[in-house]
Amino acid sequence: MSDRRKTVERNARLRMKLRARVLREESVCWLCGHEVDKSLPASDPMHPQLDHVVPVSKGGKVYDRDNARLSHALCNRKRGNKDASQAQVSLFPAPPW
Ligand SMILES: [Zn+2]
Repeated sequence: MSDRRKTVERNARLRMKLRARVLREESVCWLCGHEVDKSLPASDPMHPQLDHVVPVSKGGKVYDRDNARLSHALCNRKRGNKDASQAQVSLFPAPPW
């Protein structure tokens, strides 16, 4: 097995572990403040997803528990790469759901 492939597999494991931990420890979307239904399938826009407090594209750590929070897939997508405080205030003054 190549080193690159090993790295990819290790990262996938880290991500799965982190996701499982966040899902276990949190139950509310940190962006809109509403509860996340963890039983929803990935095809549902409200399914649980990991969001990074500091976006990975801005230097945030991918596998750091402190940088990972629970969010709805939809909220995560709406947030995009905005700073967290900015996203919470401007995107979700009054959540439609
Ligand atoms: Zn949400």
